Amino acid sequence: MKRCKINQLIRSASTIVFGMLMLSIISPAQTKEIFGYSVQQRPLTAYIFGDGENVTMILGAFHNNEPASAAVVESFRHYLETHPTEWAGRKVILVPVTNPDSQGSGLRVNARGVDLNRNFPATWQPAATAVRYNPGPAPASEPETRAVIRLVEKYSPAKIVSIHQPFNCLNWNGEGGRILAKAMSLYNGYPTTSDIGYPTPGSFGTYIEKKGISMVTLEMPSTDAATCWRQNRDALLAAIRLEVKESAGSTT
Ligand SMILES: [Zn+2]
Repeated sequence: MKRCKINQLIRSASTIVFGMLMLSIISPAQTKEIFGYSVQQRPLTAYIFGDGENVTMILGAFHNNEPASAAVVESFRHYLETHPTEWAGRKVILVPVTNPDSQGSGLRVNARGVDLNRNFPATWQPAATAVRYNPGPAPASEPETRAVIRLVEKYSPAKIVSIHQPFNCLNWNGEGGRILAKAMSLYNGYPTTSDIGYPTPGSFGTYIEKKGISMVTLEMPSTDAATCWRQNRDALLAAIRLEVKESAGSTT
């Protein structure tokens, strides 16, 4: 009787250990990284897939009046979970929500009323052309801005795609950005442009261009998240596949 119970215990323990092993094998090969905290202490979360020299960073929801941007990055995360060949031999860093405090509020700005996309330490200007473009009291005054800067410095991506709405175009910075935008345009059909049509002092794109990284601001149209995802899945895959020549700072 006793021996029987011991055997049962051994069998149960073996089943648990085997189950844990299987879980670690079949769970998505992504790591989750908290890379900072917002003004209201919400975690800023990045999801990292794969490894290799070809590193791409994709960020959503700088602005929460552009709700499809976070949804598209989340959809891309789920897609990569189930399509590991897409990131084999390359690294992909996804940040679905860059501005978590105002998520769901419909607001562009962060909890202190600052437009994060005017708060970067490149061509930053103290005066805003409108309240919604409030650049903050100083360059990188906001914790979300500083956290993004640290994340970029940590992973040194060759390419960055920042997702916004509603201008229906691929707004590029620098020669590498132009080539990245062209590669993505083949799949989403959006026009490419270096000029969004108004000044953007302290923008993330300007800051990233000065670091020599290929930069595209993906401006999706003012439509629902499902349509934006259908339009952009293959464009984002093209972005992560593109190889960048590091020494020349240009893309091939
Ligand atoms: Zn935006």
